[in-house]
Amino acid sequence: MEQYQGKTIFNKIAIGKVFFYQKKETQVKRRHVEDAEAEIVRFNAAKETALAQLDQIYEKALKEVGADNAAVFEVHKMMMEDEDYLDSIYNMIRGELINAEYAVATTGDNFAEMFAQMDDAYMQARAADVRDISERLVAVLCGTGTDMHALGEPVILMADDLAPSETVQMDKSKILSFVTRHGSSNSHTAILARTMNIPAVIGIDIQEEWAGKTAIVDGYTGTVFIDPDETTLEQMSAKMRDDERKQQLLRELRGKETITRSGKKIHLYANIGGVSDVAQVLQNDGEGIGLFRSEFLYLESDTFPTEEEQLKAYKMVAQNMAGKKVVVRTLDIGADKQVDYFNLEKEDNPAMGYRAIRICLDRQEIFRTQLRALLRASAFGNISIMFPMIISVQEVLESKRILEEVKTELREQNIPYKDVEVGIMIETPAAVWISEELAKEVDFFSIGTNDLTQYTLAIDRQNPKLDNIYDSHHPAVLRSIRTVIENGHKGGAWVGICGELGADTSLTETFVEMGIDELSVSPSFILPVREAVRNLR
Ligand code: PEP
Ligand code: MG
Repeated sequence: MEQYQGKTIFNKIAIGKVFFYQKKETQVKRRHVEDAEAEIVRFNAAKETALAQLDQIYEKALKEVGADNAAVFEVHKMMMEDEDYLDSIYNMIRGELINAEYAVATTGDNFAEMFAQMDDAYMQARAADVRDISERLVAVLCGTGTDMHALGEPVILMADDLAPSETVQMDKSKILSFVTRHGSSNSHTAILARTMNIPAVIGIDIQEEWAGKTAIVDGYTGTVFIDPDETTLEQMSAKMRDDERKQQLLRELRGKETITRSGKKIHLYANIGGVSDVAQVLQNDGEGIGLFRSEFLYLESDTFPTEEEQLKAYKMVAQNMAGKKVVVRTLDIGADKQVDYFNLEKEDNPAMGYRAIRICLDRQEIFRTQLRALLRASAFGNISIMFPMIISVQEVLESKRILEEVKTELREQNIPYKDVEVGIMIETPAAVWISEELAKEVDFFSIGTNDLTQYTLAIDRQNPKLDNIYDSHHPAVLRSIRTVIENGHKGGAWVGICGELGADTSLTETFVEMGIDELSVSPSFILPVREAVRNLR
């Protein structure tokens, strides 16, 4: 057994097999093998797994995108069984006594080049397919890659680092836990792990040879065990059962009010990144959605999501929440949330750069499409719209002006919408200082403590070296929160917190004493925060 210590992102335990996530460009290493026949048996087993994966993918594609589009996976199966392709791999393993992954990768490259040089356009197009099947085989052989199906069962995913766009595209049902070498506890990937309710640890010196081995991730202590011995397995399984018992006790708080003993009611809402997170919100009895990070719709997509695609997502969330409040934050792209098709220029200081409302007010066609979709979805539930990264009254007035124009357009087209509440994120010191003026222009404030801490303390939230001094409990942050609550109330706006600090139960009493109206937290923190509120006088 080996044991490693990292930093915890989410308190939970996972036991499972390691899947080593690598970006596609990774080179396959050549290795000498003693026993060519054993290597061929290994290759044949991997081929069977890959063929089974292709069957599964074909069935999924058939349902989701129809027979014509699914046909490509049938072609992939045929290519994987092609005699010439297989002979080349077998000959290389036997003739050069090399590992199967290297033989597959080299054969894949040779065949792809051969196809690319053919005159026939159909055959040329097969170059990409032969590369694809070879990558799949290599991924199965190494227990690595970008395809989560490689191991069939849910896995402990290990990676050097994960970008939010990668995390959001993963099949969540296949992931038991995240373990990364890099990353910071305040990054969006960390936030996603919390939203997904899975244990995560960062700062582990991960090693490729762990792929396929059994591991335990203890998200309480930040410890990762590789090849755990029986005693550790038993201890950790007991801890997991303990966890489950605690969860069971918390579940008894479902259906109960979030109210202090002296009768102060707090609206306890949830943060989500997409439609699929709503199930978790309902399971944990969220009273609404206080932050729908709409940019994840953009991160999941290869092109700008259309008005209809966005409408579908917002409408689904609004309907599933059945009349409960759903606060959708307009696009907050930029900084660590990068999307290729936006073609954003590289910046020296992206966190302080061209992002969020700044992009929306500059590239209004993107903003208007989103506002149209949001207003149309408002007819199906209780939607509120929230603008991020505000630093001036002017930005709020301009955003509201555009919103009014979109409303007029919809009225002219006889498209129904409801009156929506309009709010802003308070996540810059500028917004804190002018919160009295801002409150007059909006219905609500939601304090984004993740960015507010970053900008107040001048600490890049992405920088792991600064994780230990990124302190959301800093008096400057707490005083800002108090000021924003007071000024919001003076101007008639309700005030909530949707940054990660809102879930910190060591501060629940402080927030309630400050007069907070709403707390919006990751779904798995709803019941612990309800418990904390109910224990207050
Ligand atoms: C925040 O900054 O606190 C916030 C909720 O937004 P995000 O974490 O998505 O930047
Ligand atoms: Mg923010």
